[in-house]
Amino acid sequence: MTSVAPQPVGPDATIGILGGGQLGRMLAMAAARLGFKCHVLCPEPTSPAFDVVRRVTEADYSDKAALDRFADDVDIITYEFENVPAETAAFLAARKPVLPDPKVLATTQDRLAEKSFVASLGIATAPYAAAGSESELADALSSVGRPAVLKTRRFGYDGKGQATLHSGDDALAAWTAVGRQPSIVEAFVPFEREISVVAARGRDGKIQSFDVAENEHRNHILKVSRIPAEVTPAVAGEARRIAGRIAEAFDYVGVLAVEMFVVADGAGHSVMVNEIAPRVHNSGHWTLDGCSVSQFEQHIRAVAGWPLAAPVRHGRAEMVNLIGDEIASYRQWLDVPGACVHLYGKQAVRPDRKMGHVTRVFP
Ligand code: AMP
Repeated sequence: MTSVAPQPVGPDATIGILGGGQLGRMLAMAAARLGFKCHVLCPEPTSPAFDVVRRVTEADYSDKAALDRFADDVDIITYEFENVPAETAAFLAARKPVLPDPKVLATTQDRLAEKSFVASLGIATAPYAAAGSESELADALSSVGRPAVLKTRRFGYDGKGQATLHSGDDALAAWTAVGRQPSIVEAFVPFEREISVVAARGRDGKIQSFDVAENEHRNHILKVSRIPAEVTPAVAGEARRIAGRIAEAFDYVGVLAVEMFVVADGAGHSVMVNEIAPRVHNSGHWTLDGCSVSQFEQHIRAVAGWPLAAPVRHGRAEMVNLIGDEIASYRQWLDVPGACVHLYGKQAVRPDRKMGHVTRVFP
């Protein structure tokens, strides 16, 4: 792939964002605060990010003419989701700098490649094995043991494309449940808590990570993040070290999030990587209200070639997602002293759809 070498851009630049969800919306709002203009490309006509930017392109990611016009209009390009098709990224990278480098996508779009990458850095993951076909599934299950989690290699999020296998569960039913797609089998991790680190890496290689978030999921979807996580300083230090190591190994520019499990290990704890998100992350939304710099601003600073800020947290923070019908409760939240309400402007309410979030900071 021929890539255009990135140069730092000034606040008069236009930043292109691939993807128009709430992450793109909040990135664009942070960019606007720094003076940038944004242009969002997304196929979905009612994209939340369309409402807050100067220019929008409503087009498919494979529409080369639209991609060409988009690239012409912007100075640099970034993305708000990891499933940007490789061909789209390559097409754009030949025209304008795309940051983070699209090579990161090839690894993070595929759970098997991602797990091998993490393992190659000497960082722990749940024991795993590839299950490319139904016949490989039995071998993978016997090597990993039960309980296990079957996950599709690609396009899984918020628990989609996943099935848990306890002893006695029918492997074929799980295989069918995930759509009979190339998958991996992971040992079920009896974690004590789930945490994440949102870290930024600048073009100069400097890393700034936010405090460790502790995440509570419901139906596999993030419901609450609490910051700082109730972990020992050793665990927090290890989690931040792991995120920094991953960012360095990717030669990453921008914000990434690493989701991890904390497992009781004798008298202490160990940390295992579950997933890497090469983008801003839901568990970092608290930074909008609870920190001197948000994850969105850090990402914009990084991709623009600006220095990163050293984050200063304002207090203990809690972020609650408003999922599906819960959006109706936004009015109650408006009356809660200190609550910061964020609504994504999504028109259709669907179960499991992230509609907004609320942050509270306790100084
Ligand atoms: P993922 O899509 O991999 O982020 O998984 C979504 C959620 O499922 C995680 O946040 C965990 O709560 C749970 N989960 C995923 N993998 C495992 C595992 N190997 N062991 C235990 N729980 C898991």
